[in-house]
Amino acid sequence: MTTTPKIMVVGAHADDVEILAGGTLCKYRAQGHEIVYVMSTDNMSGGVHTLQPDGTVTTTHEPPELMSARRKRECAAAAARLGTTPIHLDHPQRHYRDAAGVQHELRYGCARPPTVPPEVPTILTAYEDEASVSRLTDLILEHDPVCVITHDLAVTSIEHLATVLLVINSFWRAVDQGFEGAMLQGREDDLVFGDLNARWDTFVDITDTLDQKMQLIGCHACQMPTAHYPHHGHRQRPLKWGAACGCSAAEVFTWVRRGDRGDSPLLAELVRNSRP
Ligand SMILES: [Zn+2]
Repeated sequence: MTTTPKIMVVGAHADDVEILAGGTLCKYRAQGHEIVYVMSTDNMSGGVHTLQPDGTVTTTHEPPELMSARRKRECAAAAARLGTTPIHLDHPQRHYRDAAGVQHELRYGCARPPTVPPEVPTILTAYEDEASVSRLTDLILEHDPVCVITHDLAVTSIEHLATVLLVINSFWRAVDQGFEGAMLQGREDDLVFGDLNARWDTFVDITDTLDQKMQLIGCHACQMPTAHYPHHGHRQRPLKWGAACGCSAAEVFTWVRRGDRGDSPLLAELVRNSRP
């Protein structure tokens, strides 16, 4: 058992760690927890969103190697605020854009961007790739966090879902090898699934760290150029959950496994806030 408790969060894309659990991480970092910040994809896709002086947001595109580098720089800035550096599993995203902005899907036999190595599966199939599961299992065992947090199952992003499958497979393999930590999934609030996403097992009161969560999200400037807006959706969501949980702001979770570790104030709060 480590002397300094660690929290591991695995997100698919730059900004997901903060969206899932940014308030929780700020709160418990201040109480002595170390953060293990893991990115499952290489972040080579997506656009660069820029807030213009007239208040509109424009979107441009850049080649995958530049996009990936930009998003990793933003990740590093956010992780630095949490006292850590990101671990990039670097599974290629399922598509990328070329210099002309045309989107290409990664398929067998397709041209690979120079940053995509030939032997690494995209995030979509990483969960069934032995080397990929084994690598994340080893990371969990190496860091021995009190809990692992990742995405929800009821999500509209296939790369989020694929990340859950990779983490679940690795987590249970680590348990088979003696890992005693807990696992939780953060609710993402995709309302297309109806009531499923309105349910949660437990929560962390992030009333005092909601501003810090939004500052972390704002580090991902090319994705979240309006994170400073008072009515930003990612600020509103914890406020909505808070109203349901009986505090001002909350991040809500479902348990995958409660674990056997009682040595963390984070776990103590999660257990205390659990529904019967
Ligand atoms: Zn994402």
